[in-house]
Amino acid sequence: MFQLVRGDLIGKNSNDIAPLKILSGSIKKCISEKIEKSEQMTFGDYTLNTTIIPVISNDVPFAIIVFRDISAFVELEKTHRKRNRELAIINTLSGTFISSGDIISVFSDLLEKVLVISDLSIGWIIMKDEKGFILKSILGASTGFVHELENRKLDSIYEDVVGLTDPLYVFEPNEIEKIDILKKEGIVFIVAIPLRFGSETKGILMLASGVEVKFDFDMAALFSLMGNNISLIVEKVMLFQETQRLALTDSLTGLYNVRHFYDILNKEIARARRYNALFSLILFDIDDFKVINDTYGHQAGDEVLRSVASILKCISRETDIVVRYGGEEFILMLPNTSKQETFNLANRIKEKIEDHKYLEKEAVNITISGGIATFPEDAGDSKALLYAADMAMYKAKAMGKKRICFYGENG
Ligand code: GH3
Ligand code: MG
Ligand code: MG
Repeated sequence: MFQLVRGDLIGKNSNDIAPLKILSGSIKKCISEKIEKSEQMTFGDYTLNTTIIPVISNDVPFAIIVFRDISAFVELEKTHRKRNRELAIINTLSGTFISSGDIISVFSDLLEKVLVISDLSIGWIIMKDEKGFILKSILGASTGFVHELENRKLDSIYEDVVGLTDPLYVFEPNEIEKIDILKKEGIVFIVAIPLRFGSETKGILMLASGVEVKFDFDMAALFSLMGNNISLIVEKVMLFQETQRLALTDSLTGLYNVRHFYDILNKEIARARRYNALFSLILFDIDDFKVINDTYGHQAGDEVLRSVASILKCISRETDIVVRYGGEEFILMLPNTSKQETFNLANRIKEKIEDHKYLEKEAVNITISGGIATFPEDAGDSKALLYAADMAMYKAKAMGKKRICFYGENG
């Protein structure tokens, strides 16, 4: 390797000294035009800054050439530039978490940024859960391709990628050739970047292009950096969502808790007032539940509560709200539902609850009482409406339990 040592140069012809040979044109020009010149050159692993100073001594023109080895500076600058780019990427991606309101837009916002950073045209993010792979967001692909993905055409490929420990997987052209939907979409380059939470792969970022891509080490580093950051962001957003969900639901049954119900109830009252609409509440209370606990134990009691909750959830419609109101009390809120419709539904629920087989080992009989109140005919605000439902339920208990009562005179 070339070394800039004094001994290399003394007494030698400039044509025998490689860096000088490269500069010979510039040296001649400087001497003839009598001008000083600086230039940068690379020589092997070195980056040299050279200054050519023309000198005339005793009428003989010659040149002083100063070499400065600036390789270290150049290397440093390259590292800085790389760091800056990485920081810009991290900054761009992490801004998504702050600006996106919900998880759906987090995925599409991330994807949009990733395509800009990577300069690729097609991208999608899939996440893995108990049911399999779910397409969260996709950009740049045809609707036909999206349809094929929704039809799980790439699931076996995702499965392979999830099993990998590498930070990314670039498909070979002959692999792409074998996958019909990629070929049909005109994809010639595709890379899968596993999204890992801890040691577990929970999703994949897929990036693709319809034009050839020169894949090199820098690009691999860029993709894996993006993968790491997306994983971090998605993990945080999901944790945030889970925390929110836990704050709204009851841990035993998974139903909405009372605190959240009060929020929903107030919103529903406002909505019903605005649209001149009605809605009903059923307050259910399991009959003699204390006896279940006393006879079969608290755990069996919990089991019954979970079963009742899932029956309520199962029978109710998408728009209904099911709440664990207290220990063995539940509320069903039914938008746009009259008193009579609510009464019919409540009785169907009551029968379902009575018919259900609860415990594995013992045959227990569970019955339920319910009270119905309807907005606005029974009450005009949340407190009065809950009082009305409570009174109706109390009436059902007083009349011998196992029944549904309305609030008011003829209930
Ligand atoms: P009634 O027919 O008048 O409603 O009688 P009841 O026994 O159902 O009513 P009471 O209010 O006297 O008793 C309710 C019982 O529910 C008492 C309490 O120990 C039990 N309970 C409340 N929360 C839970 C829970 O999370 N798990 C279990 N296993 N029991 C609970
Ligand atoms: Mg009770
Ligand atoms: Mg009870």
